[in-house]
Formats: sequence, structure tokens, C-alpha cells
Amino acid sequence: MDLIFLGPPGAGKGTQAKMLVERYGIPQVSTGDILRAAVAEGTDLGKKAKEYMEAGKLVPDEVVIGIIEERLKQSDCEKGFILDGFPRTVPQAEALDKVLEKMGRKIDHVLTLDVPEEELIRRLTGRRTCKKCGAMYHIIFNPPKAEGVCDKCGGELYQRPDDNEETVRSRLSVYEQQTSPLIDFYEKKGLVRKIDGRGEIKEIFDQIVKILE
Ligand code: ADP
Ligand code: ADP
Ligand code: ZN
Repeated sequence: MDLIFLGPPGAGKGTQAKMLVERYGIPQVSTGDILRAAVAEGTDLGKKAKEYMEAGKLVPDEVVIGIIEERLKQSDCEKGFILDGFPRTVPQAEALDKVLEKMGRKIDHVLTLDVPEEELIRRLTGRRTCKKCGAMYHIIFNPPKAEGVCDKCGGELYQRPDDNEETVRSRLSVYEQQTSPLIDFYEKKGLVRKIDGRGEIKEIFDQIVKILE
């Protein structure tokens, strides 16, 4: 099961991907998570990516393509993977096709999550993430039991620096310009499964499972 989650920032890709990981035992591959870890560690990759991420712009294609090529070769991806936040440009999607072809694999489904822009802004500006396990919360829509503390592992919750309203608006316009053309790209291959991203997290998950099974 080789899957892609496609949708604007805040659509719920990470939230749904984590639920699929639990259900199907295939890994979530998030270029955003990989890049944030590199920034936190201060590696060469992190140094390259930091400015772009803080400005809400895309990290250059060749950088993220290299990351993905390496990641998909790891043994935990043998039975499948869930790409979350990659590809984000047509050149990235073309590079992904080549990488998969070399591996004798191909994408099975491209799940798109559709959410209106005002709702995306509300979701992103209220998002909180666990420092320790990566679990996702929302201060209003999906709050933890105790403020600032992860229900799952007790870790500390933090707000991403790029989840402020100004950077969010820039990320949404980058999505419109550079990423939304991918819907057409995958539509032509007959791979797009459209999902309404509004409503309860659990109901959206049920829709996704129905499509996959
Ligand atoms: P993405 O990975 O697409 O950027 P996330 O999964 O991180 O999106 O979700 C963004 C924010 O919206 C998080 O705070 C999350 O808890 C919240 N969220 C996710 N799905 C829903 C939903 N169906 N309804 C309300 N809030 C949601
Ligand atoms: P979100 O979950 O809100 O959609 P991500 O965590 O996927 O955000 O991405 C955060 C930032 O990391 C992006 O704004 C961008 O700077 C960088 N990034 C992540 N994935 C990619 C990618 N595939 N191509 C270019 N930049 C990326
Ligand atoms: Zn946690």
C-alpha cells in the first residue's frame, strides 16, 4: 500500500496519517518532520532548510527529493508507506515516479483532503504538537486532557514557529501555486480519491478506510 496524502497545510494529513500507521503498520513519511528534526539537530540539511521553513516557503526540490529517495529504501517501507507533505511540486512528483519505478513500485492511491481556507487558518493557528512523540492536538478542536501535556506520553506540547497567521497565509498561497497542480497530475493517472476534510476526525478516518478497503 503506497499512499500519498495531498492537501493544504492544516487539512489533517498528519492527523489521519498517524491513525493509518496504527491501523496498517506502514510508516508515515513526512518531509516536514524530517526537516524539522534536521533543523533541531543543526545538521547541514537543517541549516539549508531553516530559512525557507521559517518564511513558509518550499525547501528546494533537490534537497527534499534526496531525502525521500533515501527514506523509501529503508526496510520499514517494504510493505508500503504514507507520504505526508511530499510531493509538493510537479518536479518532486516526477522524481518520485522515477524513484518508485527503479524500485519496481508505484503509487496506489492519492488521498486528497479538502478544507475551506478560513478553517485551515483556524486549525493551523491552534495546532499543538508533542515534542516527544509527535502527536497532534488543537487547542479547541482536539484539546489534550491537561493543557500543554500530551495524553499519550506526557510529553510537552509546543506550537510550531511557522504556525503564526502571517506565515500560514504564505504557506497557503505556496500551496495554491505550487502544490495544487498535483491534483491534476495525479487525476490524469486515475489515482485521486477525494475526501471531504471537514467534520469529525474519526468520521474522516472512516471515509479513508472505506476507500482503502
Ligand atoms: P496537516 O498535516 O495537513 O498540516 P494536521 O493533521 O497537523 O494537518 O492538522 C492541523 C490541525 O488541525 C491540528 O491542530 C489538528 O489537531 C487539527 N485537526 C485535524 N483534523 C481536524 C478535523 N477534522 N477537525 C478539526 N480539527 C482538526
Ligand atoms: P504542514 O503539515 O503544515 O503541511 P509540513 O510539516 O509538511 O507542513 O511542512 C513544513 C515546512 O517544511 C514547509 O512549509 C516547507 O518549508 C518544508 N517542506 C516540507 N515538505 C516539503 C517538500 N516536500 N518540499 C519542499 N518543502 C517542504
Ligand atoms: Zn506525546
